Amino acid sequence: MPIQIIKNAILAAAAVVGLNLLGGCKSGQPLTLARDGKTEYVIVVADDASGVDKYAAAELSRYLKQIAGADYPVVEPKDMDPAKPCIFIGLSSPALKILGKDPMAVFKDQDNAARKIGKNIFLYGKGLHGNLYAVMDFLENSLAWRWFSVFEYPLLPEKTTVTIEPFNRKQSFSFRYCLQDLQRSIDYGYQMGANLYFDQKFRGKTDLPREKRAFVSAFHEVEHGAGNHHTFFSFIPPSPDNRFVAYFDWQKKKDYFTTNPDYYSMNADGKRAPRQLCFGNPDLRAEFTKQAMRLIEVEGDDITVCVCALDTPDMFCHCPSCKVLMDKHQSPGGPLYDYLIELCGILQEKHPKAHVYTIAYRRSQTEIPPKLPEGGKLPSNLIVNFAPIEDCLFADWTHPDENNQETYRHLKEWANILGEGNLMSLYYGPYGAAMYLPIGDIDRLVTNMRLMHAAGARGIQMDQDMHSRSAFSELRNYLFYKLRKDVNADIGAIIREFTGYMYGPAAELIRTYLNELEAARKEMISKGLPMGVSFHAPLEQKNFLYLTPENIHRWQGYFDKMAVLAAKGPDRCRVNVELARRSLDIATLWKWFELTKKYPEIYRDHQVFVERISAAEKNTPLPMAAWEQERASRPEGFAEIRRKWMPLGDSVVSDLATIIKGGGQVKPLPQELAGLDQSRVKRFVPANRFSVVGKDYPPVGDRVVLDPDAAFGFAATTYLPPQHPGQKLPFTFGYRQERKSPSITRSIKLDEITPGVYRLYKLGEVIVTPAAMIWMPEWSCSTILEIGQRLYEPGAENRWEAYLSLKFDGPTYGGPAKEDRVLVDQVIMVRKSDDQFKAK
Ligand SMILES: [Zn+2]
Repeated sequence: MPIQIIKNAILAAAAVVGLNLLGGCKSGQPLTLARDGKTEYVIVVADDASGVDKYAAAELSRYLKQIAGADYPVVEPKDMDPAKPCIFIGLSSPALKILGKDPMAVFKDQDNAARKIGKNIFLYGKGLHGNLYAVMDFLENSLAWRWFSVFEYPLLPEKTTVTIEPFNRKQSFSFRYCLQDLQRSIDYGYQMGANLYFDQKFRGKTDLPREKRAFVSAFHEVEHGAGNHHTFFSFIPPSPDNRFVAYFDWQKKKDYFTTNPDYYSMNADGKRAPRQLCFGNPDLRAEFTKQAMRLIEVEGDDITVCVCALDTPDMFCHCPSCKVLMDKHQSPGGPLYDYLIELCGILQEKHPKAHVYTIAYRRSQTEIPPKLPEGGKLPSNLIVNFAPIEDCLFADWTHPDENNQETYRHLKEWANILGEGNLMSLYYGPYGAAMYLPIGDIDRLVTNMRLMHAAGARGIQMDQDMHSRSAFSELRNYLFYKLRKDVNADIGAIIREFTGYMYGPAAELIRTYLNELEAARKEMISKGLPMGVSFHAPLEQKNFLYLTPENIHRWQGYFDKMAVLAAKGPDRCRVNVELARRSLDIATLWKWFELTKKYPEIYRDHQVFVERISAAEKNTPLPMAAWEQERASRPEGFAEIRRKWMPLGDSVVSDLATIIKGGGQVKPLPQELAGLDQSRVKRFVPANRFSVVGKDYPPVGDRVVLDPDAAFGFAATTYLPPQHPGQKLPFTFGYRQERKSPSITRSIKLDEITPGVYRLYKLGEVIVTPAAMIWMPEWSCSTILEIGQRLYEPGAENRWEAYLSLKFDGPTYGGPAKEDRVLVDQVIMVRKSDDQFKAK
């Protein structure tokens, strides 16, 4: 390439990444921010600095003290010593005196600048968080601050003399809005660039007015928290026991379904049910608007009113008026769109500062945008977050799969009819088995975020599990924030830096592992996408074809080497390698019988792998450093703690271990269920977890017994206390949605028992919730299956029919055994609801 063209290409790249030099020139003397642990510098904020600006100043001062050991006091202009050099945060009057009249004349919201002029430093930006972003840019790009993971310490160079090269930067972000899970840290997300959900997080926890608060959302979104974006019933609660009722304090009426059943969905059978709202009903629309006005009255009109459907599938309403509106807008979301257009119109007139926010979610509801006349636009005060939950998680939008292509087309169509900057989009990280098995989807994240931006999305959200520190969840999180700022960032460089810190001497090998996972995934989908996989992938052979014995074995070899290498680095490298290895060890247990066949000398004892997973979980989280604890003194007044992560694939590990114990045999389904479509059937073995018994009780005995009659070659025992013979017969088992909620139970009498053989007992239909469990028997509840952890799908109907397979023996049950005992070899679940995530 000729030199001139290279130069142009570099310039073009600089313009694209949004990080460019301001008009002034960059030359000049380096600046000494501290010498031998001392500094002259003070941090200057404006007299009327906002809570966010004060937070930015306090954090800068805190970090600088850690770097140089010196104190950097934060002062207002009136307390400045004119002889001392300053770090100006925001445009205070003395800063403007040097910078000139309007240094942000061409800035867009959140654009920010970091500049050195003479001995002074200027950090300023436009809008609510502009100054904070300038401070973070200064920390990151002039002082090498990094914060790779919420589970790690912020990384700071420590040197008593701090000299920095001249700088003059302006930064624009690719995405204006950035929404991320904040459950594990407020500071991490805020400093990395998240700017939504903070209002929500601090709701009811501070009396400070919005402008005085450190943690504020980019738009005022008090109402997002109702069920995580699902707000219909916060406005119109069907009954006082509905979980959304408590959300709005001002809400007095709580029984709309009793007084106005026609406000709610008409089901296919013509009956009204409190499932969603019926926006074909003009009375409901009037009532909803009245409620929205009350919200604005209470919260002020600088607000974004969230109007979002409940997280339950299927068409909103089957009534004739709703059907008319579906036809009118050529989308199942028609009734809601029609109302949103009306509400937005009213607000534009009465409260021009207010916005309306909704989600484009599920094909059968709101993913498909309304068809407007050529060139038509939706109201400019409508913000839409596009949440493509039906996409196969193995493929990005460059894959020719029809379903994925249709999704991306919908996103582009939304962009065409929304006001500039009003479209957000969500990236779903892996869920289901992909959370705990090895998967390389980093490339998918990067590609789809770039395509979202190209389509016109200017807000971004990621939904993934961060709690178990699965192999690449922290990298995914870090890259998400980097791409939020600059969608064209150098991904290779970021991954090298991230893995270098997290894995130290093992970094190169973990990158090889990641690259091979990516390549294996791409090869798998080059032949088509696995059916029935959406944002989550069930643990089924057809879904992870790249987890072959050869690959698993080769990758285990990498981890053997990584373990040796990481031991030479800081201890965090050892911990991070151990945590990353868990998913490969789970895959090893899953493919155990194939591995033992192929490499009989190596895969001899599965317990080694079970124990290695458990040893990795025993590592403890890093404590917060003392200087991090100082954050407790801020106005919002809390110090964060680094909480322990959740074990990865906990119940799956024990399930796989028991299957291995059973020798890998699988008997066909019991006769009664033999004719069923096998894809609707899931089989599990519960576990006897009974541990605490009074001193008068006999010991618990074996928890698992090998039994050639059992479906998988082994069965779980149950604890039958001899002191409570009444609990043995009838034998009662049950299902409950949560620990304290009532159970659906089934009692087995003697005439239903054939001693010494497994018989099937039907419990009936259940709705599986995240914490749902099947328990047996009454009194001891010794033996349980956490069915929610295994089956629950967020947002799905989750209707299943439950069966238990039990074998009774001993005197009470008329069997020859000396002692009474009841074994359970399987719980069989049969899916009753259609899978709404399945591709058409
Ligand atoms: Zn209706």
